[in-house]
Amino acid sequence: MTQAAGDAPRRVVVIGAGHGGAQLVAFLRQFGFAGSIVLVGDEAGIPYQRPPLSKAWLKGETTLDKLAMRPASFYAEQKIELRSGLRAEGIDTAARQVRLSNSEQLGYDELVLATGSYPRALPLVAAGLGNVLALRALPDAEKLRAALAPGKRLVIVGGGFIGLECAATARDLGAEVVVLEKAPRLLERVASAPISQFLHRYHEARGVTVVVDASITAVEGQGRAEAVRLADGRRFACDSVLVGIGAVPATALAEAAGLACDNGVCVGADCRSSDPHIFAIGDVARRPHPLYGTALRLESVPSSLEQARLVAAAIAGREPGPPEVPWFWSDQYDLKLQMAGLPVAVDEVVIRGQPEGAGAEFAAKFAVFHLSQGRVTCVEAVNQPQAFMAGRKLIGSGKTVPAARLADPAVPLNELAA
Ligand code: NAP
Repeated sequence: MTQAAGDAPRRVVVIGAGHGGAQLVAFLRQFGFAGSIVLVGDEAGIPYQRPPLSKAWLKGETTLDKLAMRPASFYAEQKIELRSGLRAEGIDTAARQVRLSNSEQLGYDELVLATGSYPRALPLVAAGLGNVLALRALPDAEKLRAALAPGKRLVIVGGGFIGLECAATARDLGAEVVVLEKAPRLLERVASAPISQFLHRYHEARGVTVVVDASITAVEGQGRAEAVRLADGRRFACDSVLVGIGAVPATALAEAAGLACDNGVCVGADCRSSDPHIFAIGDVARRPHPLYGTALRLESVPSSLEQARLVAAAIAGREPGPPEVPWFWSDQYDLKLQMAGLPVAVDEVVIRGQPEGAGAEFAAKFAVFHLSQGRVTCVEAVNQPQAFMAGRKLIGSGKTVPAARLADPAVPLNELAA
């Protein structure tokens, strides 16, 4: 698929300028693709990083320049046509054309859908409650930033990554914070019970009111949310509400084009959709993971970057690299939570280090290893980058390790992973 002399220049169109889309166009040039590249994004401006939006950006500790994935000059230098502030509204798969919101028709040889996901809405919220917020993009973060100040009361619905990262930031900024999680524990979908329990205590020790098994019956207020009411009668008065109850894959464009979709755009291991000229990557793609065999839709920056690399390599005629063990991270207060692998067929859980100390003081340095028949399948590390790295290595190698040695802080991790 690389350019042969005399061929008409091939054109790759990428829809979605988040982490996956923006990295894919950079990889294409890095891998020697000489054709035309168009990156379409519905937000204004140049592609930027999202992880700081719940942390450094809210605290005013970073600038727009630092948030940018690359300087504006990069796109011109690399001859990447950046079409910001435009939505793709339809795909004609037979004619291989995308219709943009300015009515322009963009022809393509290869199309990449990197449309991401959008925040799930809380059904009980009446339209037009201006102080009920979500967090996905820069304008959302701007609104949230304005709502956080000493003494301001923030009720957060959802104890997932958005909820907990924003709770930590809001407390650091002096706001009063309540987290309402409907599951029996925080981060239930993505973390093990020891991590959930640790984070629950850690947030409470820093003044957050954490409610699990929370069943919200009403968001009260006329024009503005004034309180959130639970089924058990409790009522939490608020100045604003942040809803972080999960993300929905943005498949509307793919569905309308007739692509196979089922909780995401269904793609093969090579990220190709049911149309051979259309790929999907990132939050929107559900892909059979080569290391696990099952189709997964991973909502994480590292996964979108891996898929961007894979698709760029395919388009540029390069060999794809080896599959990566999936990994995530989350920063809350002074904690760095790093996770790798997936807890598949786990028959033993090993904790290395101390998740608890005396009173409100937590020795925040420990790791949870999940083993299946003596092999590590998942590691979750809190302020233990060495454990995370060793765990990732062990997951990749499939080496068996004695659980007792893994649990013993006196046994060096690099020795176990070597
Ligand atoms: P999330 O991580 O899926 O967490 C949402 C949480 O809200 C889940 O625990 C969910 O419980 C709960 N919930 C659902 N409905 C609820 C309700 N009606 N009342 C109370 N709780 C409810 O999603 P998120 O925190 O909204 O994050 C959105 C996306 O951003 C995700 O893709 C996330 O991975 C990503 N993100 C990632 C990071 C990171 O990697 N560090 C940081 C921020 C955001 P159930 O599971 O029981 O539904």
